[in-house]
Amino acid sequence: MTSEPDIVIIGAGAAGIGAARRLAGSGLSTIVLEALPRPGGRGFTRQISGMAIDLGCGWLHSADRNPWVGIAEELGIVVDRRRSAWGSQYRELGFPPSDHIAAQTEFGAWSERIIDAPPASDIAAEALDPNGRWTNYLQALSGYISGDELERISAKDYAAYDEASTEYNWRAPAGYGALITAAIPQGQALHLSTRVESIGLDGSRVTLETSAGTLRPRAVIVTCSTNILSGDTIRWPLALDPWREAACRLPLGNNEKIYLEINGKNPFEPETHVIGDPRDAATGSYYIMPLGLPVIECFLGGAGARKAAADGAAAAYERATDQIVNLFGSSVRSNLKPLAASDWARTASIGGGYSHALPAQREARGILARPFDNRLFFAGEATHATDFSTAHGAYKSGRRAAEEAIAALTAGASGISGAVSG
Ligand SMILES: Cc1cc2nc3c(=O)[nH]c(=O)nc-3n(C[C@H](O)[C@H](O)[C@H](O)COP(=O)(O)OP(=O)(O)OC[C@H]3O[C@@H](n4cnc5c(N)ncnc54)[C@H](O)[C@@H]3O)c2cc1C
Repeated sequence: MTSEPDIVIIGAGAAGIGAARRLAGSGLSTIVLEALPRPGGRGFTRQISGMAIDLGCGWLHSADRNPWVGIAEELGIVVDRRRSAWGSQYRELGFPPSDHIAAQTEFGAWSERIIDAPPASDIAAEALDPNGRWTNYLQALSGYISGDELERISAKDYAAYDEASTEYNWRAPAGYGALITAAIPQGQALHLSTRVESIGLDGSRVTLETSAGTLRPRAVIVTCSTNILSGDTIRWPLALDPWREAACRLPLGNNEKIYLEINGKNPFEPETHVIGDPRDAATGSYYIMPLGLPVIECFLGGAGARKAAADGAAAAYERATDQIVNLFGSSVRSNLKPLAASDWARTASIGGGYSHALPAQREARGILARPFDNRLFFAGEATHATDFSTAHGAYKSGRRAAEEAIAALTAGASGISGAVSG
């Protein structure tokens, strides 16, 4: 690889790919470096027994304004626009309608308080009803939505996402991860299994020590997760301390997925959903036969995901199976077998689920998104003011950082165009 490109993008996730697409045709030479042996980052579709299994992002949230929908159309990738079954409980198993309505009403009232009368402390848990009966249910939802307990969530940050998001949630049956990686621009120099080990700022260029040698680009677009930014897998120059401190205030929560394969004669119906135990803050949320596939997708957030990461896949499969057996009866145990599990918390170049702002720390997103010295540009889901924690927010942040880099590198230059690509 050329050692002095114009731009290096660190990370081939949704943000890095968004940046690469914006830079394609700009006239600026660009190299993408990815620590993992595959592109996509937290967008990861595994092909298992002929099925597309998303271990990271799966839903095209705010789909009516999600740029990945247009990219899918451009690439000839089908988008399924059916409504999700999340809010429903199949045959009211373990969650009678009166309880379900009460729990949803409590969640609705909490959401309204977060927006209309936010707590002065900005601690989302302080908007809970002290006499509420469904606090654990709300904590479980907080785990799915934000990856952590409400005590650690900024109310303002939560409200900003909530107000900006729309009710449309679609899917790509080929897999969201597959869609993201199919969008890598043709001819893009992409080096997998290539880890950036240190970033230096001596001279006018940036010095990157990588597992494949030294690079000296004019500018770098950093798309690593906040846990990588605040951690020590990369040696950062001291000048970046304010960016790393901002990343500490936007930690990744915990989110993991477990898939069970369904075999034999069974009672499961496609596109249905159950929450394992609505009184348990660590409960799994089970999407049954998504898109008709013979699998159950178990989504874990917060306490449930931390437990899965700590105890390992075998224990997590067992817990998920036990919760499903508890609802559907012991006969289904023989219908279920482990298929796939994520391990985002222990993936060294990622380190967790998705970012949330700690109480009173929402402004850290803007601090993290600032360029440094017209040489370092920051993207990644955590830098988006409202679409954080999503693949479309990541994509948009990558395009924004690429535009900043183009402006910085072409200021005063002629003959270099900022041509737009998708
Ligand atoms: C279980 C789970 C479910 C999710 N569900 C959804 C969903 O349904 N819908 C949705 O929109 N979003 C969802 N998300 C969130 C979404 O996946 C992420 O917000 C998005 O993919 C993040 O993209 P990114 O480019 O910002 O970061 P990443 O995908 O983390 O990309 C950063 C890349 O940088 C690489 N990197 C890090 N350090 C180095 C280094 N030193 N050298 C080289 N490369 C490095 C990493 O390996 C990684 O590939 C989910 C996430 C998880 C974990």
